[in-house]
Amino acid sequence: MKEGSLKLSIGHLYPKLLNLYGDMGNIITLMKRCEWRGIKVEYDSIGIGDNIKEHDLYFIGGGQDRQQVEVSEELYKNKDFLIDERDKNAVFLGICGGYQLFGHYYQPFDGDKLLGISLLDAYTVAGKKRFIGNVTVENNFLDVKTLVGFENHSGLTYIQGDTVPLGKVIVGNGNNGVDKTEGARYKNVFGTYLHGSLLPKNPTFADYLIELALEKKYGEKIKLAKLDDELEIKTHNSLVGKAY
Ligand code: GLN
Repeated sequence: MKEGSLKLSIGHLYPKLLNLYGDMGNIITLMKRCEWRGIKVEYDSIGIGDNIKEHDLYFIGGGQDRQQVEVSEELYKNKDFLIDERDKNAVFLGICGGYQLFGHYYQPFDGDKLLGISLLDAYTVAGKKRFIGNVTVENNFLDVKTLVGFENHSGLTYIQGDTVPLGKVIVGNGNNGVDKTEGARYKNVFGTYLHGSLLPKNPTFADYLIELALEKKYGEKIKLAKLDDELEIKTHNSLVGKAY
């Protein structure tokens, strides 16, 4: 199928509340990497109270505990719809606070448990220590075997069942600083603690998500044309293994 005739719809979940540490850069990367290939993107910024339409790819960023309270209530109202979207192989990417709400719950240090929408078989409890710093993750599903970013969270996430990690932590803490896992995946739902923003420095992962979303939409595997990623890969490689 010719790239120029392709379309993709992206639903951005609650960017006015969850959008920390440049998480919008993930949306910009997805849109640009489609645009550079002539793929048309329909971008939908979803706010509190909005009716969520079907999309090929959903994104949600990170945020403070406070903002997570409002978003968790809103997400929970749409839980059945979003689980249905997951089961239709829509792609989801959640960063940090948004990732935590993709699980069953997030128990902040102070305050009531926030219900998640169980897209992932995972749960999060806030720890006493804040994990802040660069992270390098070794993955086994991308052509480039590392993912880089930075983390800033007190939440400790534990994954279980058929949910698998994005990879193994080489530098940094990742999900909980103990089991050496970072992030999570179930079907086409991805969660990670990697801010930065993540996708500009991990172009292979960005393209992987775009290809999954196109496959979901068109029902066939679509291999994206290569882009000149020299600068992105140079940036990526400069961060691999870097702690500070
Ligand atoms: N408030 C959550 C935590 O501290 C998420 C933080 C974030 O999104 N960076 O773990």
